[in-house]
Amino acid sequence: MGDAVHLRGLIEISNHCVRQCGYCGLRAENANLARYRMSFDEIMECAEEAVRRGYGTVVLQAGEDYGLETDLISDIICKIKRATPLAVTLSLGERPLEEVGIWRSAGADRYLLRFETSDLELYHLIHPQNRREKRHYRIEMLRALKKLGYEIGGGVMVGIPGQTVESLAQDIEVFRELDLDMIGIGPYVSHPDTPLGKGEWVRSIAPEEQASASAEMTYKMIALARCVCPEANIPATTALATIDLAGYELGLRCGANVVMPELTPPAYRSKYQIYPARRSVEDTDPSGPSSLRARLKKIGRFPGIGPGGRHHLYPQEALQ
Ligand code: SAH
Repeated sequence: MGDAVHLRGLIEISNHCVRQCGYCGLRAENANLARYRMSFDEIMECAEEAVRRGYGTVVLQAGEDYGLETDLISDIICKIKRATPLAVTLSLGERPLEEVGIWRSAGADRYLLRFETSDLELYHLIHPQNRREKRHYRIEMLRALKKLGYEIGGGVMVGIPGQTVESLAQDIEVFRELDLDMIGIGPYVSHPDTPLGKGEWVRSIAPEEQASASAEMTYKMIALARCVCPEANIPATTALATIDLAGYELGLRCGANVVMPELTPPAYRSKYQIYPARRSVEDTDPSGPSSLRARLKKIGRFPGIGPGGRHHLYPQEALQ
């Protein structure tokens, strides 16, 4: 993918969520979290800031919040596509296919939906609302999103309690099978207000099988994902930078080629608590967002220009 690092401005547009994921602080049952939903104008201001900073993409991310109505999201996509050169990535959870189809028609380019783990038993244990279904719905939804013409982003957490090292190897196989355009890999970070953080819902496995939630294991996963999926856009993630101050630089050196600086207004940012003490690009460098270019330069990299979508470099058969 070369030495360019694509910058995607992350806008966390709401922290309301109907889901009960066992690891995530936004889960519906967490009463210790003040909830917010950004307005149309606030979201547009963030998109304009992305343009001013020279980013090529904005990512609209939220909990699974049906207060973000179909038409509101469509209107935002249309406005951003009309008023700016930005690519638009959505990360709004398991919304109905009909809706994501409407958003695709409105101009959305990409959809991020990590499948978290390909280990079906563990997946169902930590996602109680999907337990009724025998299938891995997120993997199915990624296939459906691809058919709708989206570039698709999957990915996993590394070191979930009960997650084996072997299943991480399987996850990399799934990255390849799905032919992912984007792969997000971050360490699991314990949140005290969640079942997993309280030591509940934990599958018992032999201690030597447990995948470590370390930065090192995450770097290995990024490097292997890069080898197996040479064309994918792979971010050095916020969770990685949260557990390792050098996470952005080292993630990029291990094969990542994307950084997602936060554009969410600070008052909301602190409330988007999927896990505690999240560290954004600015927090790992007190001199602020303008220093990102300098940091990239130090490691021989430079900001990418344009939307930075998937490039097909190899014949399809070569990747299978
Ligand atoms: N509602 C959207 C966005 C969820 S937040 C969706 O469901 O796709 C984005 C990602 O944060 C999740 O996919 C998950 O991989 C990660 N995440 C959530 N809780 C986490 C935790 N405790 N530690 C590390 N990553 C976490």
